Amino acid sequence: MKIHEYQAKSILEKYNVPIPQGYAAFSVEEAVEAAKKIGTDVTVVKAQIHAGGRGKGGGVQLAKSLDEVRNHAQNILGMNLVTHQTGPEGKEVKKLLIEQGIDIDRELYLGMVLDRTVSQFVMMASAEGGVEIEKVAAESPEKILKEWIDPRVGLQAYQARNLAFGLGLEGKQISSAVKFMLSLYNAFMANDCSIAEINPLVVTKQGHVLALDAKINFDDSALYRHPELAELRDLDEEDPLEVEASKYDLNYIKLDGNVGCMVNGAGLAMATMDIIKLAGGEPANFLDVGGGANVETVRNGFNIILADPNVKAILINIFGGIVRCDRVAKGVIEAVKSIDIKTPIVVRLEGTNAKEAGVMLKESGLDFIVADTLEDGARKVVGVLKN
Ligand code: GDP
Ligand code: MN
Repeated sequence: MKIHEYQAKSILEKYNVPIPQGYAAFSVEEAVEAAKKIGTDVTVVKAQIHAGGRGKGGGVQLAKSLDEVRNHAQNILGMNLVTHQTGPEGKEVKKLLIEQGIDIDRELYLGMVLDRTVSQFVMMASAEGGVEIEKVAAESPEKILKEWIDPRVGLQAYQARNLAFGLGLEGKQISSAVKFMLSLYNAFMANDCSIAEINPLVVTKQGHVLALDAKINFDDSALYRHPELAELRDLDEEDPLEVEASKYDLNYIKLDGNVGCMVNGAGLAMATMDIIKLAGGEPANFLDVGGGANVETVRNGFNIILADPNVKAILINIFGGIVRCDRVAKGVIEAVKSIDIKTPIVVRLEGTNAKEAGVMLKESGLDFIVADTLEDGARKVVGVLKN
């Protein structure tokens, strides 16, 4: 689960990670009030969306007066912010963060993620902060310093010192940075984060180290341990169809193509998308309906797939291992009858009672295109689009 910068910063603050003074604002008036409360000469007006690169896209503006705060807030609220992470369609800004302006001396990078290949956490730091860290990682990976953290012993102070020295920090800054890293580590662990990224971590002209930006993602599998985090979810930032699908426990990811896919099992769903592409088509979605494909799940699946106006044909690919194919066929037939689908449907069922299922589909009086193999299914669904 992703959250906004202002929410991430309020969590970090609880763990003593230093952040600029700031307040979330949901209207122009609130933005001006927040700036009055902060009372510094310079305030920063920051768009809150679940994507980075806001600065380059015009979503971060410095204001030198309350009038400028009002202007920037007016411009940014409601704007369609396009960044390299939002995709070309952009994201409408509905929230702001108003912050005290910081006199920046250096912009650094600090991040922490789980490194699955070694079953350890890794804290990464770079003197090349403020920019796209992905670019630094690709072009000059040696500029990213890493300390792997054994979860049984946690981040050690000497590791944090290694990173601080590597960043070229001096004097008091070193102990500030070490404290910062240990606090970030505590916040990460206590909330079962999957990513915590501070880009930039800044050294101010006064020599303080603080988080100018903050991004936190939580591990969805651990969310049950943190009921208080659930309210931080912002459904405005998620794809509406994906939100709808999650209500039905369907694993759905929207894509750009026109072939809707309904599959059981994540691996089979990915293989199905691959083979559609191989046949010259483009999948409209990933959809794993889970192990027990019954009438209800199939109907919900259809409703989600068909809510995407790009979908021009559907490929159902179900392997009857745990679930029998005749049960799935019954579910598909009943679901199609109950929602009156006009879109062509190619069905490939394999496994227990596949033959019976094929007969049921043919005798249903509905226009299913029955496929024998996965390859046949992909070819047929792409063929339908060409006619
Ligand atoms: P992002 O573009 O979405 O990653 O948003 P950031 O919060 O990282 O802000 C982008 C850039 O705006 C930073 O790298 C800074 O250069 C600049 N910026 C943000 N806040 C301040 C501030 O208080 N003072 C100054 N001088 N620059 C700021
Ligand atoms: Mn940033």
